[in-house]
Amino acid sequence: MSHTPVKPMGFIQDERLSFEYPPSDRQGVSLRQAPVPLPPVEQSLPGVPLREDNLEGLPRLSEFDAVRHFTRLSRANYSVDQGMYPLGSCTMKYNPRLNEWAAALVGFNQIHPLMNEPLTQGTLALMHQLQEWLSEITGFPGVSLQPAAGAHGELAGVLMIRAALEARGEQRPVILVPDSAHGTNPASAALAGFQVKEVKSGPDGCIDMADLTAKMDRQTAGLMLTNPNTLGIFEKNITEIAKVVHQHGGYVYCDGANMNAQVGVARPADYGMDVLHLNLHKTFSTPHGGGGPGAGPVHCTAELAPFLPGPVVEKSGPNYRMKDLGATSIGRLHAFHGNVGVLVRAWSYLLAMGGPGLREMTDTAVLNANYLRKELEGVLTPAHPTPTLHEVVFTDAGLAERNITTLDLAKRLIDHGFHPPTVYFPLTVKGAFMVEPTESEPREELDRFVMAVKAVLAEAETDPDTVHSAPHTAPRRRLDETRAARQPVLRWKKD
Ligand SMILES: *Cc1c(COP(=O)(O)O)cnc(C)c1O
Repeated sequence: MSHTPVKPMGFIQDERLSFEYPPSDRQGVSLRQAPVPLPPVEQSLPGVPLREDNLEGLPRLSEFDAVRHFTRLSRANYSVDQGMYPLGSCTMKYNPRLNEWAAALVGFNQIHPLMNEPLTQGTLALMHQLQEWLSEITGFPGVSLQPAAGAHGELAGVLMIRAALEARGEQRPVILVPDSAHGTNPASAALAGFQVKEVKSGPDGCIDMADLTAKMDRQTAGLMLTNPNTLGIFEKNITEIAKVVHQHGGYVYCDGANMNAQVGVARPADYGMDVLHLNLHKTFSTPHGGGGPGAGPVHCTAELAPFLPGPVVEKSGPNYRMKDLGATSIGRLHAFHGNVGVLVRAWSYLLAMGGPGLREMTDTAVLNANYLRKELEGVLTPAHPTPTLHEVVFTDAGLAERNITTLDLAKRLIDHGFHPPTVYFPLTVKGAFMVEPTESEPREELDRFVMAVKAVLAEAETDPDTVHSAPHTAPRRRLDETRAARQPVLRWKKD
């Protein structure tokens, strides 16, 4: 089998902002002369405050200019529809178009959150069925579809833990978070008013049981745990971990954003977790990234169910209705029903896949990650000797000896047509290079990725400068990422 690497082609134009087009009198629409005389605008819009000065500096583009402008901008972007998007922990998998068709049906996309229940029975039935399916997948009886993202689900979960402790007359100020946790975990715990204490992981990438046991006490509300963890490793002592936390009266929060590695194989409720969120936009396929809408349903045991955020969808006789959860609930997290478009996509995905399809999804995601690990372990150093689940993490050991950094490798991959993987995370792995291929990628694409990595490593030995100064085919070279995060310029201003 031979695969030619994707060759950079000169078709990406460095498009300016529409505001930067030279002033003109072009316009994108032609308005016909009205067939009848119209009243002055003050009369047709009585009581509406009208602008008195002229708008200056707005772009004036013809329809043709506008089409070209946005098409050029879109081609400077990268998406999973274009090629492999191997960001670790992000589950950038293919989003079947069927889901988009379902979410765009007028019955879903033309309803308003304030429409009364008799008129929205179909949507409520869908939400109810989704609640039941997700309960079956996670094993938890309690579920609320309210949270609008993964981190929002985490916030809901830790607020529920706090409410449950308060209901039994306890105030525990501390939450334990492992050093390999996703960054949103300590942030959510802090936002819910907890102090965060770190638990160490051992050389095998799993939680250090001695450290957990030493830190779990009556001041500690519980543990926030990602499973499989950010290294792609299933916590091998998971039931023991739950037991230690429960013995001291705490709760285990499970970050279920990595459910893509478990659906149909393991249920978090069965291995002792108390509360969990899912990322529907990851595991159950909604286009995400760039801050697009998501959904992070929160799930829990019967014990924690009274504290769930409401409203939830309830079936009463043949009808469905939104039900608030009463005084013990942590309240609302969303003004309305949650991000319903994402819920429709997840429902459509689940229905199309079915149980066996979901199991195959999980198995293939794990197989793909381990295929990459095997193919690359001759040139890169895996962070841990054991196989992982849905993602694989390498250290920079193999790179340092070639005088390139993880960042150099990631940036040069852009010239081979790949989005860079996650780099320098988790912090517990030196110079981490973290790849989650997902089940979507066929073997040819995985082989192409392996070839690209090997080509960059070979190039580092003959022509290191080209690697150090990559990317060469993107509209921009290396950006100052710290400045972009610290001093974001989000608004165009004239001059
Ligand atoms: C993506 C992710 C999150 C956060 O999800 P958002 O929807 O981006 O808020 C939390 N934990 C893990 C492990 C994740 O991968």
